[in-house]
Amino acid sequence: MTEDKQDLVVIKNLKKYFPIKTGFLKKTYVQAVENVSFTIKKGETFGLVGESGCGKTTLGRSIIRLYEPTSGKVFYDGEPVYDDEEKKQPDMLYYRRKMQIIFQDPSASLDPRMTVADIIGEAIDIHKLAQNKQERFEKIIALLDKVGLNSEHANRYPHEFSGGQQQRIGIARALAVEPEFIVCDEPISALDVSIQSQIVNMLEDMQADIGLTYLFIAHDLSVVRHISNRIGVMYLGNLVEVGESNEIYKNPLHPYSKTLLSAVPVPDPKVSRARQRIILQGEIPSPISPPPGCRFHTRCPYAKPICKEAPPKFKELEPNHYAACHLFSN
Ligand code: SF4
Repeated sequence: MTEDKQDLVVIKNLKKYFPIKTGFLKKTYVQAVENVSFTIKKGETFGLVGESGCGKTTLGRSIIRLYEPTSGKVFYDGEPVYDDEEKKQPDMLYYRRKMQIIFQDPSASLDPRMTVADIIGEAIDIHKLAQNKQERFEKIIALLDKVGLNSEHANRYPHEFSGGQQQRIGIARALAVEPEFIVCDEPISALDVSIQSQIVNMLEDMQADIGLTYLFIAHDLSVVRHISNRIGVMYLGNLVEVGESNEIYKNPLHPYSKTLLSAVPVPDPKVSRARQRIILQGEIPSPISPPPGCRFHTRCPYAKPICKEAPPKFKELEPNHYAACHLFSN
């Protein structure tokens, strides 16, 4: 159970729209994240799942202000990181040390012109974490060691490494500033299946060692099941369900979560045969003009008239289990 842990990151009504040009002097918006509220507790792994394009990466980046939110609030350890009611937003240099990100595609996220030592050392320099060159070097070697690489790798370039090793370098870079919270943005989806579990195990060991808190983004539930304490499910920019990991697996409440879960492979053939796969009709609508009311109503097998008119409220339906669906309105 995680409810007795302290909140580390609190997200309230967060919205992120991207402007796009539609003609001469005309523009519209991609409504990538719409009124999302949830909390991430100290020391937990919060898994965030949903189809490609549902806004989970945008949400992760907006929380740490790699993308500037459109509106809403984000608090870190009780202090505002972003507050739409304040004219002046906090200086992010302090929070860049506390909050880091590991990217999906390690080859694209490492500068090909820099050596591994400089990629890791850059963060140490920005935050002035080493008194001199010797200390800087020692820190870099210690970080390489922590992610299963060694001093011989320090002067090489990213292209000389495999995908798994590149991701280890990305993790070492994130760890260089001694963060407390890391957004893991699909950190294994670009890697071979054979090395995915090595990276996941390493992230889990690091969490146990230094008490890190993770927001772990993935596009399918099977990846986040074992490493997450709690899971949030996103659909077309909305958070539709949040609950403890086991609870989401045993008792999903939102029709979209049920669909995602029905696609997760089950090792036991009997259970697998008994489980009915739910196939959604139609394409995911465009976030430029999302459906009114519940954004899932165009594909939901249980949709009723009110679903087209009013967005459902995100409510606690069972202890620590939240969902937004009119099926549960009284
Ligand atoms: Fe389906 Fe309506 Fe619930 Fe949306 S609110 S998930 S359309 S039943």
